[in-house]
Amino acid sequence: VGGEPVLTLAGVGHHYGGVQALRDIDLSIPRGSIVGIVGANGAGKSTLGRLLHGSMTPSSGERATHPVGDEPLRISLVPEGRALFKTLSVRENLEVSAYAMGIGGRKLATTLDEMAQRLPERVRTRMHISAGALSGGEQQLVAITRALMADPQVLILDEPALGLSPAMVQEVYRQITALAEQGITTILLDQSLPRALQTCSTVVVLRQGEVVATGSAVDEGFAARAEEAYFGEV
Ligand code: ATP
Repeated sequence: VGGEPVLTLAGVGHHYGGVQALRDIDLSIPRGSIVGIVGANGAGKSTLGRLLHGSMTPSSGERATHPVGDEPLRISLVPEGRALFKTLSVRENLEVSAYAMGIGGRKLATTLDEMAQRLPERVRTRMHISAGALSGGEQQLVAITRALMADPQVLILDEPALGLSPAMVQEVYRQITALAEQGITTILLDQSLPRALQTCSTVVVLRQGEVVATGSAVDEGFAARAEEAYFGEV
């Protein structure tokens, strides 16, 4: 779907023991796009996210990355549930990620300052409080910021709206859209088809581990087709 691919899956399947979570997935993520992967609980979104990220290897099929130049493609995943250290401060959460990447010394301070600029003021002024004391939406924004520490070319977000108030969902999705506009290829795993259609250039519908529809909100009739595919026949 437009643009050269930055990340591709070909004939990918994945099972956990006897549970077939994904089957026969062909997927191409165009550079600079914002791709939504939608599906109900258990459709296989998180599994697909981890396979795209590379933190898990598929049981079958091939994953390929297409970096520009010689350096490996930098991909960050914001996991479902955010996985912040709740008792550590916001700053410490960012520091942990910096250390993991070998950023230290003077570079650490400037990187943290840069990252803090991406946070809303009410979080930026409370970098020293424990992450667990922030609202769910604020925590999501910190988790996204932490993922940006690696300067990713591809950002994968696993259900960033989960458990957030509608106002916070809007704020988080504004931030996601802004990052995509800055050129970060974005993969959004989402249960909400309408939200994905609104946010993404391409929407892939997963049902029971299979891709059942691919298209865009601007394609005539796609929204209706995608909805049917999402819910399937009863
Ligand atoms: P959710 O929205 O609930 O997170 P999902 O669309 O992300 O769902 P996955 O978490 O990828 O779906 O799960 C796909 C299938 O694989 C489900 O049937 C799930 O029960 C199963 N599954 C996921 N992780 C494991 C695991 N570690 N061990 C066994 N089965 C698993």
